[in-house]
Amino acid sequence: MAEEWDVIVVGSGNAGFSAAHSARQQGARVLLLEKAPKQWAGGNSYFTAGAVRTTHGGLADLRPLLDDPAEQRLDRVDLAPYSAADFLDDMQRVTRNRTDPVLAQILVDESREIMSWLHDLGLRFELMFHRQAYENDGRFRFWGGLALGVVGGGKGMISQHQAAADAAGIEVRYDANVTGLVTGDDGEVRGVLVADGSTVRELHARSTILTCGGFEANPQMRAAHLGPGWDMALVRGTPYNTGDGLTMALDAGAQPYGNWSGCHSVAWDAEAPPTGDLERTNQLTRGGYPFGIVVNTEGRRFLDEGADFRNYTYAKYGAEILKQPGSTAVQVFDAKAEPLLRPEEYRSAGVTKVEADTVEDLAKALGIDEAEFVRTVEEYNAAVTGNATFNPTIKDGSGTTGITPPKSNWAQRLDTPPYTAYPVTCGITFTFGGLRIDPQARVLDRAGRPISGLYAAGELVGGLFYFNYPGGSGLTSGAVFGRRAGSAAVADAA
Ligand SMILES: Cc1cc2nc3c(=O)[nH]c(=O)nc-3n(C[C@H](O)[C@H](O)[C@H](O)COP(=O)(O)OP(=O)(O)OC[C@H]3O[C@@H](n4cnc5c(N)ncnc54)[C@H](O)[C@@H]3O)c2cc1C
Repeated sequence: MAEEWDVIVVGSGNAGFSAAHSARQQGARVLLLEKAPKQWAGGNSYFTAGAVRTTHGGLADLRPLLDDPAEQRLDRVDLAPYSAADFLDDMQRVTRNRTDPVLAQILVDESREIMSWLHDLGLRFELMFHRQAYENDGRFRFWGGLALGVVGGGKGMISQHQAAADAAGIEVRYDANVTGLVTGDDGEVRGVLVADGSTVRELHARSTILTCGGFEANPQMRAAHLGPGWDMALVRGTPYNTGDGLTMALDAGAQPYGNWSGCHSVAWDAEAPPTGDLERTNQLTRGGYPFGIVVNTEGRRFLDEGADFRNYTYAKYGAEILKQPGSTAVQVFDAKAEPLLRPEEYRSAGVTKVEADTVEDLAKALGIDEAEFVRTVEEYNAAVTGNATFNPTIKDGSGTTGITPPKSNWAQRLDTPPYTAYPVTCGITFTFGGLRIDPQARVLDRAGRPISGLYAAGELVGGLFYFNYPGGSGLTSGAVFGRRAGSAAVADAA
């Protein structure tokens, strides 16, 4: 006899735990199945910085969520409100108006309330002084529409979710590889197949919620959908997100949706391992490029380092690096810019770094085209007009004139040794294409009808992100649609 559950959730990331908590709160018996062994619990969510994008009315609005609401630095915070209109505008702008208007509106409208819900479950929040603020004249000025983070980053988020699941009586099984959906004659989903070595077992449930990530860790699917060369990208997070949930849902008649040739990818340490490092997690990111220049191995610049705040460019610049010779590039800074680089990313153990007193010696040490690199630096320095005051907390308009590509903000001459260089490659984070869901997170078939018994949330939902992504939206989306999936899964089965 197959085991019987009310709700089965597939995948132990933030979306999966959010769905499981929500279903459990409605009184359901919930089983959460995770393919990876326990030390890889939490999928990509474990690897995150724990940054969560939410609308808010300023510090007073966020203070009740904070782990230490009396922290002294809070008296010296400048944090402008981030309205629903701001969040929606960011979603529309970075996705070139492709974001699904219904899903995006839900994400935005529930983003603040979901933080209170997570907080009530036991998740602990803080303001991200270390990555989203700069101190100036004794005040901490936050920038980029992103201020809130989970205490302990992704590692903290997953252990807090696990503790909440234990307390709520949600059963979590690791090493449980879901290989297929069990369907009835009418196409209704009645549970899952779980492989344990050569044995495959059926587990039955009234509702099944897929929260098992995209296909970013599957080189064959990357090459097939993202295009040639994407098999060479390094994977920033879990090696277990191999598109299984997408494949099994599409096999069951689900509708593919969104930007299947698009993904989130960033500048990543060129010497990083092929998939995520459980210890260093997000530290292998190199997000300081707005304060320097980026060149390829031919010594040429190829992107606008200062086009916008890092939160609005970092997720699309990995793809630009992938297109360069050898899929590598180098971020270059001088002594003025170095202090602005985040210590976790640029000064922790094992960072790939080269330093020299002249740009010529830097090029030699890097093994890149020396003459072209020197010419690039001279041309860039001459193009820095210096007619605006450098200020990292605003788009300061301190740009270049007369060079292509321009540097639109935070352009300062590279003229103060020592010069530092950080070799980077493309690190893929997650894929944008996914399944089509309705507002209740029911998976839709190719005729646009809900597939009975099947729900989805998190990375494997399509339609929210195209081309690019506003930082911190992935975790918020997983929680918002995970909670919706959990509650609809119980309500529909009643
Ligand atoms: C280095 C890094 C930093 C990031 N930083 C941030 C950030 O600060 N803020 C933010 O919002 N987003 C961030 N992201 C993006 C974020 O990780 C994702 O948007 C989010 O975690 C996705 O959550 P999820 O629950 O959908 O998927 P995941 O957290 O990846 O969980 C999916 C789970 O499903 C499991 N699984 C896969 N296949 C099966 C199967 N067949 N059977 C059973 N289980 C299966 C996987 O093992 C995995 O545990 C970052 C990502 C990375 C890699």
